[in-house]
Amino acid sequence: MLAGLIGQGISLSRTPAMHMAEAATQGLQGLYRLLDTDTPRLQGKPLAEILNAAELAGFDGLNITYPYKIEVIGLLDQLSPNAQAVGAVNTVVLRDGKRFGHNTDLWGFAQSFRQGLLPDAKLDNVLLLGAGGAGVAVAFALIECGVRHLSIFDADHGRAQGLADQITRRFPDSQVTAITDIAQHVAASRPDGVVNATPVGMAKLPGSAFPLDLLDARMWVADVVYFPLETALLAAARAKGCRVLPGSGMAVFQAVRAFELFTGRKADPTRMKATFDAF
Ligand code: NAD
Repeated sequence: MLAGLIGQGISLSRTPAMHMAEAATQGLQGLYRLLDTDTPRLQGKPLAEILNAAELAGFDGLNITYPYKIEVIGLLDQLSPNAQAVGAVNTVVLRDGKRFGHNTDLWGFAQSFRQGLLPDAKLDNVLLLGAGGAGVAVAFALIECGVRHLSIFDADHGRAQGLADQITRRFPDSQVTAITDIAQHVAASRPDGVVNATPVGMAKLPGSAFPLDLLDARMWVADVVYFPLETALLAAARAKGCRVLPGSGMAVFQAVRAFELFTGRKADPTRMKATFDAF
């Protein structure tokens, strides 16, 4: 397996280790390279050039991360239904001279959610913060997991509204609303669960997009941020007695599905999670 990750500022990614350890355990020779456009070698290089080079070098596939998940779509031959629905690609399979785009973030969050919070979590009314790359995949995953009423907040209201419209077009029976005031929404609707899909809470952007004084023990709280694993939001939610879901699950399961797409072999999520946790 020859694969890689194209992104900017990805030097701390745990994805290469997860893929290479899984390949080795399955008796495959696996090489997974970081193609980081923050490094002098790739700085300023267009995405198309990096993709061409990887294809010429015989890569089986690539993961794509910030800021290229949308841009890459224009360079592909075919999109999976998930990638088409979300409008973003995080996994490209290179096969027989063709480029196939997938979105494994959607399944990654859904699978993490199913295993980490269901069947007990109430899904009637969920608040999602962040309607960027991760937020779009998470919104689709939440609807697929059975959320009945999804409210979306983003500092850029146009994004929240755009995502609400996108979901409604795809699932006309779903109830999706873009909101402008978190405190007012929480007081009026008392959400069953809150998901943070903004970058707030990352080591380089500390804090919480959800006001911590609005936490309530009956809520479940999920975060997609995984660096650090215990964000301020998750720590406060845990202290309040809420059930919590860290971002590591999504990160591991998106890699599980990507490994399967690259190699045609099943990956072991427990093993890949152990590699992730070893960092
Ligand atoms: P992005 O820049 O595409 O989108 C972030 C969105 O959050 C933007 O729409 C922005 O307006 C909004 N936002 C920022 N601050 C806000 C605030 N205080 N309140 C409300 N909205 C706010 O970023 P992204 O690619 O969606 O990544 C978001 C986070 O998700 C990052 O921390 C990233 O590492 C993480 N992520 C995790 C996984 C995983 O597998 N666990 C996968 C993808 C992304």
